[in-house]
Order: sequence, then C-alpha cells, then structure tokens
Amino acid sequence: MAEWDFTTDFVSIGSGGGGLASALAVNSRGYEALVLEKRELVGGSTAMSGGVLWIPNNPLMVAEGVEDSREDAMAYFEDVVGDVGPASSYERREAYINRGPEMVSFLQGLGLTFRRCEGYSDYYPDAKGGKARGRSIEGVVFDGHRLGPWFEKLQQSFLFEMSGLAAYTGDAAKLVNFNRSPKALAVSARTWARTKAAFARGQAPLTSGWSFIGQMLYVALNKEIPVWTNSAARDIIIEDGKAAGVVVQRDGKEVRVLARRGVLISSGGFSHNTEMRKRYLDPAATTDKFSFSNPGDTGEMIELAMSLGAATDLMDEVVWNPCKEINDFAVFESDRQRPGSIYVDAAGQRFVNEASSYLEVCKAQLERNHTVKAVPAWVIFDDDFRRRYAFGKGRPGVIPKAWFESGDYKKADTIDELAAMCGIDPAGLRATLDQFNPNAKRGVDPEFHTGEGAYNQYLGDPKWKPNNCLAPIEKGPFYASAVYPGDVGTCGGILADENARVLKPSGEAIPHLYATGNATASVMGRKYLGAGASIGNSSVFGYLAGLDASKS
Ligand SMILES: Cc1cc2nc3c(=O)[nH]c(=O)nc-3n(C[C@H](O)[C@H](O)[C@H](O)COP(=O)(O)OP(=O)(O)OC[C@H]3O[C@@H](n4cnc5c(N)ncnc54)[C@H](O)[C@@H]3O)c2cc1C
Repeated sequence: MAEWDFTTDFVSIGSGGGGLASALAVNSRGYEALVLEKRELVGGSTAMSGGVLWIPNNPLMVAEGVEDSREDAMAYFEDVVGDVGPASSYERREAYINRGPEMVSFLQGLGLTFRRCEGYSDYYPDAKGGKARGRSIEGVVFDGHRLGPWFEKLQQSFLFEMSGLAAYTGDAAKLVNFNRSPKALAVSARTWARTKAAFARGQAPLTSGWSFIGQMLYVALNKEIPVWTNSAARDIIIEDGKAAGVVVQRDGKEVRVLARRGVLISSGGFSHNTEMRKRYLDPAATTDKFSFSNPGDTGEMIELAMSLGAATDLMDEVVWNPCKEINDFAVFESDRQRPGSIYVDAAGQRFVNEASSYLEVCKAQLERNHTVKAVPAWVIFDDDFRRRYAFGKGRPGVIPKAWFESGDYKKADTIDELAAMCGIDPAGLRATLDQFNPNAKRGVDPEFHTGEGAYNQYLGDPKWKPNNCLAPIEKGPFYASAVYPGDVGTCGGILADENARVLKPSGEAIPHLYATGNATASVMGRKYLGAGASIGNSSVFGYLAGLDASKS
C-alpha cells in the first residue's frame, strides 16, 4: 500500500477546458477535486485559444430560437465524420450531443456567461444536419481582476496578444475586414470602444479562451478547489487494477496524491514532442516550429497511459492551421480566405478550395506533398489585393518593408519572375492563372468550388461580388509568401468511452482512470465539425468524467 502526502477524491491532470470542467463537476456533487498544472500558468491551449465551444442544440440556440435538434447533430456527425472507429462511436457521439447542452447549462448555473457566435457556420454546412448559423458559443467578456493574484497566473489569450483588444472570436471575420463593410467597421469600433472603456474603468477585459478559463477558474477558486501550478504529474499509481493516485513533482518536490474516485488525464496533446511527432505525424510536419499550442503540450501523459495498458487511436490527427513565417515567427496565414489569392504547389497548380477550413486546407497540402512539392505551398496575390486589405496590424494596402527584406514576402513585376523567386514552375503558374482568372471574374471555381456555402462566405470579403472569396490575379506587381502546415495541437491519443473512461485494447475500461481533450482520440474523428470542436470535446468529456467519478 502506497503512502500518501495529500488526499482528495479526484485529480485532473491539466488545467485546460477539460481539467477545470471536470473539477467543477466533481465539486458540484459534493466531492473534492484537485487540479494539477505543470506550468506556472493556468489554462493550457484552452486559455490561449479563441475559446469557442461547438455544442449542438446548446441552451443559447434554444433561447434565441435557432433551429437545431439531436437528430440533426447526429446526422451531421454521421455524414461528415463517418465511421472512424471507437473514438467516434455512436455512444460517444450520443453522449456529446445529449450532454453537451447540459454541460453548458451546468456552467451557466455556476455563473459563467456565454454568447452565441451568430453566423459562424458549421465547417460543412451543406452536409446532412449542417447549420449555416453555427452551433458555436464563447465566453462573454470577464474582468480578470476578479481573480485577484491568480490573474497573473492565467495564460494569456493569443487573440489579445495579437490585437491588444477585448475582441470576440466570433467577430474576428469582421475585424479583419474592418475596411470592407459598414457592419464590419461598426463591430470593430464597438470592440475598440469596449476595450478602451474597460481599461478606463481599471478592468482587465478577458475574452476568447482567456474568458472561458478565467470564468471557470474564478468559480473553482470561490469553491476552494485547489489548483496547483508548477505541479507536473509524473506517474499514475495503479492499485488492485484501479487508478489510485498520482505522483506529482510540485515545486521540485515529489508529492503522492491519493485520488479516491478517479484520475483524469486532461493534459493536452503532443505537438511539442518532436520524438512523438516523428513517430506519428506526416514526415513533412515533424517540426513544432509552426505549432501554436501551449508549451506544455508534450504528450508524456499519453505515453504514460499507453504504458498502463491504454489503447490509442488516430495518433496522426492534428488540428492543422496554415501558417507562414515572418521575421522568424510563425503566424497564421489568413490571406487565403480573401478574394484574389490562391495557394499553389511547386508545379504552380492549385490543390484545394483555399477558403475551406484550416484543417482541410492543410490536409490537402500534406496529401499533395506526397506527389508534388507542396510544403511549403505558396499564397499568390496581386497588387489590387494588396490595395484592398490590411496585413498584420498595418493599414490596408501596406505590406511592411521588413517582410520583403527578410525574404518572407516576395514581390515581382511579372508572374514568371515571381515563380522563379519561389521555385515554382512558371509555365504551370501561368496556366493556372489563365484558367482561374476568367472563372474568378464570373465568381465561379469549377474545380474546387471556392466561395460556395455558408462557411466560405462567412470568412470572405463582405464587399466583394459576385463571389466574396474569388477575384482574378492579374495586376502586377505580384506577391507570394510560403505557407506551411502549422497546428494548434494534436488530437489523437488515448481511447476513451462515452463516460471518458480510459479503455484497453480489449475494450475493457481501466477503473477510475479517465481521459479527455487532446490527450484522447477525439469524438470528431478526422474532421473538425465547426468552430469550437476541440474545446467542446475536451470540456464535455471532462464534465462527464467528473460526473461518472462522482457516482456512488
Ligand atoms: C491560438 C489558438 C486558438 C484556438 N482556438 C480554438 C477555439 O476557438 N476553439 C477550439 O475548440 N479550439 C481552439 N484551439 C484548440 C484548443 O485550444 C485545444 O485543442 C484545446 O484547448 C485542448 O484542450 P485540452 O483540455 O485537451 O488541453 P489544454 O487546454 O492544452 O490543457 C492541458 C494542460 O495540461 C498541462 N499538462 C500537460 N502535461 C501535464 C502534466 N504531466 N502534469 C500537469 N499538467 C500537465 C499543460 O501544461 C496544459 O496546461 C485553439 C488553439 C490555439 C493555440
């Protein structure tokens, strides 16, 4: 029998969406929970993220009369995800669809506030059961100072770091198009005014993942749920075949924690573990240079679970996101959603609907790279495009000089010169544009269907007609930048059942051991169903793990 330094009912390894949701669920049932976080900051990739949760038929949709149903959500899963095995079994889908709204109500009951991301379409809106108005929600602005000294320990959101604004992720498409429609300008002005007003009142206005984690942390602290930072789980102790506790390295000392009712692995994926990337991912994506996930995404808990006999699946799956490099920094590539840009491979050929979801674009890029060099691919646009849009934080029409000086952006008077600078076949690129331009003028893309469907249109230029994702590329000078398959985390891992119980290859559960989020093979399988598919997956199965462990 092991000796214990600390006793609790439930340990959540990781302080992201799944970790905190599970601890709140356990606490609501009258049991003790402990949240472990190996970093000095709380919140993981969830706090850094857009903070959007994709929850079909959620209470905000119901309250606002936005049509959805369990049947439609299940049809959507079936049509888009298809059969990918037990990670997205019928039971797991059913649990996600049926209990997701319950989790949102539960969090609302604890005082969390959310808003609906109106019009943030499902990523496959034309599939059976797809919804053009979207099923995504995000946290409402929350004053970080309410966390007291814990505010300093909260992982900052990427959106705030980039913009300095208390911006909603659901408004991001309007913010980047602030000069393209009165509505987009109004949303941008409101965002700016909200930020200024909050700062003037001495508040720290948190939005996106910062708000979601900030709000959950606030409740957890008020309920006196211990959250240990600088506390890495090193081992899970199994006694009599059950997960009995966790060995923690806390501030450099070993602490043995007894978990009477269960242990949840909610430690994220392995996007910063080069060895695991090499073992499981496409050889063209083994560097984490283009990964935006939090530095704690190192996969050791997945490996530990494997050593304890857990089954894994979908280990090659990643939430891909196209990236470029500017002055040695990886940044998200977003030119692709605007009319007048295309992605091409080294042969000068397009290979994807550039306005489709980030996951689909990178998957097509990696697939293409197996036959024609497409890592990097190149985003190509012309001078009309340059005049219309803002780049980075700059004014519309201004591409910073430094980007050309560093070689990250290329500029040439002719297509042939541009192709030569990028190592693209000039004849291939010319042929692509000869075919693309007349169609783009008419607003059609017979090959890839760019601009068709609500998701494409949501991200396009609101002012551009006839197709807000398509415009010809014909007026020099011409521009290009390299595009890499970046990511916001891996999403294959431990196999868990509909109650988030960790499964062995035999299908039998390991008693008292749970897993959720990017540490697991996602219920979304090999697809990303809509904005918030990751945090939805992590939080819902974290919540269900907490409830299952709290059953008497
Ligand atoms: C910029 C950006 C924007 C994004 N936007 C969205 C979005 O809007 N919606 C969406 O659904 N997804 C989004 N994502 C993806 C999403 O954030 C992640 O997929 C999701 O948050 C993963 O949740 P998780 O609970 O599995 O892990 P995390 O939130 O990463 O939490 C895991 C935590 O566990 C800790 N940990 C790891 N190992 C240990 C250990 N041994 N002991 C103790 N602690 C440990 C880590 O340090 C980390 O803090 C975005 C990601 C990024 C980077």
